[in-house]
Amino acid sequence: MKKVYQCSNTLELQPFIETLKRLDIKHLIKNEYISGAIGELPFTEAWPQIWVLNDNDVAEAKAACRATETDINSDKPDWDCSHCGETNHASFEFCWQCEHLDSQQL
Ligand SMILES: [Zn+2]
Repeated sequence: MKKVYQCSNTLELQPFIETLKRLDIKHLIKNEYISGAIGELPFTEAWPQIWVLNDNDVAEAKAACRATETDINSDKPDWDCSHCGETNHASFEFCWQCEHLDSQQL
């Protein structure tokens, strides 16, 4: 059994879980519900993690997770502020430079 992916919250893990289900790769989720262990462990150890049960599936699962990650990131391109022209990361609703709200983000 091997860990193939982890991130800071279970919600972000969902697309990766869906990908593995689609590929019929047997897996389990660790730390799906964060316990009281935070503070005693290095915090990344307490993050939700996807583990693949069959070692033969690990390479495929990792490749699928990487592809999913690329998909997610390309879903949301950076945007240029129509007011000042500054390039903003997709996660920003407002221009970080001039606080203009970009209409494309609504
Ligand atoms: Zn701006």
